[in-house]
Amino acid sequence: METIAERLKSVQITIEQSTLDAHRPSNTVKLLAVSKTKPVSDIVLAYEAGQRLFGENYVQEGVEKIKALESLDDIEWYFIGPLQSNKTRLVAEHFDWVQAIDRLKIAQRLNDQIAPPKILNLCIQVNIDDDANKAGIGVNELNDFAKAITELPNLRLRGLMTIPKANQSVTEQTASFAHMSVLFESLKKQYTTVDTLSMGMSGDTQNAINNGSTMVRVGTAIFGSRN
Ligand SMILES: *Cc1c(COP(=O)(O)O)cnc(C)c1O
Repeated sequence: METIAERLKSVQITIEQSTLDAHRPSNTVKLLAVSKTKPVSDIVLAYEAGQRLFGENYVQEGVEKIKALESLDDIEWYFIGPLQSNKTRLVAEHFDWVQAIDRLKIAQRLNDQIAPPKILNLCIQVNIDDDANKAGIGVNELNDFAKAITELPNLRLRGLMTIPKANQSVTEQTASFAHMSVLFESLKKQYTTVDTLSMGMSGDTQNAINNGSTMVRVGTAIFGSRN
């Protein structure tokens, strides 16, 4: 069996190769290692192999890991799961980024619960395929929603994230990613803080990068399958 360091290396190679294949500059796609359900010891192995960005989906589990790993320098913690209003305080206190914002009420609570000078970086989740099973705001709501977010002083709008519909054909998936890229480029023109298009996971890394992703969120390909 391959080690976490070896799997991390091959994900890095896939990212770099996909970036170059897409005629994009080297090192323009970040890797978020999704460590949900995996033990702290796995995160340490990835950290020792050079990984610094980690994503968690569950508040309690994420906060426990953040506390356990407090002594490691320069880790950035991303909350990427659905967030309920009774959990916002813990996220505001412990995480650096929140990637799946689709309700203004949640954003407002985070804004109120942050202790400045801390800033929380935030991506808006877009339900690009209008999938009834997916969270995220509709494409038509994006402009108004983004404007409302940028009026909250303790949050910094960094960009968009999406999870495309499962089991689409490659053609359909490509269309979804390309549509996200158009929305991202337009948002970037409106707000100078916007620099992140979070899309692509273990199974669709290449296609996402080919369509402009600046951050892929990869769990299984680094840490192995989850129970
Ligand atoms: C779990 C998860 C991932 C990682 O998925 P893999 O297929 O294991 O790479 C990425 N993004 C989100 C939002 C997730 O919940």
